[in-house]
Amino acid sequence: MELQALRGTSDILPEDIPRWLSLERTIRRLARLYSYDEIRTPLLEEASLFRRSVGETTDIVQKEMFQFEDRSNQLIVLRPEGTASIVRAYLEHHLDKRIGFAKFFYCGAMFRAERPQAGRFRQFHQFGVEAIGSHSPWIDVEAITLCQAMLSACGLPQSRLWLSSMGCKPDQLRASQKLRERLSLHRSSLCSDCQSRFDKNIFRVLDCKKESCRAIVWKEKTSPFILCAECQAHYDQVRQGLHSAGISFDDTGIFARGLDYYTRTVFEFRAKGLGAQDAVAAGGRYNHLVEELGGPSTGAVGFAAGIERLLMAIPKGTSDSSTVSRHGIYVAVTQPTLIAEGFRLSQQLREKGIAANMDYDSKSLKAQLREADKVQAQYVAILGEAELAQQSITVKDLGQGTQRTIPLDQFIQEMSHAANHEQ
Ligand SMILES: [Zn+2]
Ligand SMILES: [Zn+2]
Repeated sequence: MELQALRGTSDILPEDIPRWLSLERTIRRLARLYSYDEIRTPLLEEASLFRRSVGETTDIVQKEMFQFEDRSNQLIVLRPEGTASIVRAYLEHHLDKRIGFAKFFYCGAMFRAERPQAGRFRQFHQFGVEAIGSHSPWIDVEAITLCQAMLSACGLPQSRLWLSSMGCKPDQLRASQKLRERLSLHRSSLCSDCQSRFDKNIFRVLDCKKESCRAIVWKEKTSPFILCAECQAHYDQVRQGLHSAGISFDDTGIFARGLDYYTRTVFEFRAKGLGAQDAVAAGGRYNHLVEELGGPSTGAVGFAAGIERLLMAIPKGTSDSSTVSRHGIYVAVTQPTLIAEGFRLSQQLREKGIAANMDYDSKSLKAQLREADKVQAQYVAILGEAELAQQSITVKDLGQGTQRTIPLDQFIQEMSHAANHEQ
């Protein structure tokens, strides 16, 4: 039997790593620009954290969590999303009392037992931000602005912002009644999931990915959400803020997010070319979550974006450093007895911060040169008896095809100067 990675998981091979690193560097740089500090929470959490936050009736909790009992019969899950863990950490470390308002950035693996499909994995990666401790609509505007800045800096050519407000809990209660009335005529045409969502969590119907359900939902032209005066004022301020920031959006959709913790602003960035499930980033405000997890009553807003889906939507070769360039020095020796000398030179180079690579399998010089080209070395440093006797080195520039023999000291000095310049 051949061993394979689990269904819905994937290896990220060295050849794919430059795209990932480039994306991660870009989002870290932008998070810093907007003063969001990185936080890393565990991959494992108690199951109850997500039941209390994401919601009992959501697909995530009902069907998609990887859940198991540990040896002491504690119910553990592999985290399906980032927000709940970050709020837990915020409260556990008393950041509510120590700093109050806090802005977090995260990036890491999440786990959901979804049916694997294009761009959806069971172990997938997300980055996102959470701003906890404020009701100000300007924080919504800032989070949306940052999300768009990250997506476009990552090389996403075109994305469209969908904006809505789900209001406060009383607004949501009214909207759910209204939505039930509207959809009751079509109830039997909804998918089996939506039929059970109908009573338990009707907003999930708005979120259904099935074409037949989407067609029914989108037949309605007006949003079921009628906001109270405060929520309407908040939403108006968010929209004005986005206008003044020069961010265009579509607020005409009948659009809600299915996780229990959302209140007021919800948004999604959709990219072309990802099909019906074209959202690359999504988020919103969650004004009750901190309180529901045992903290003070306070506002919070955030978003998350899936890295695999984003990479699918970004044309290859557009992100800044995804092109492989020649790099480092390949130390080649003219005969196997010189491997120890070659190793010493490699170490000398590495200690100066210069990438060095060499062959330990006593390959011929010709084979070593082929290898140097294959690993995209910039230079080959050839060490033979003659060079050793004269304390010199023969340097071949693989990019330019030139070759020269120079004193060893001069070589190390030149290379370390170039390496420092690069950094
Ligand atoms: Zn309201
Ligand atoms: Zn459905």
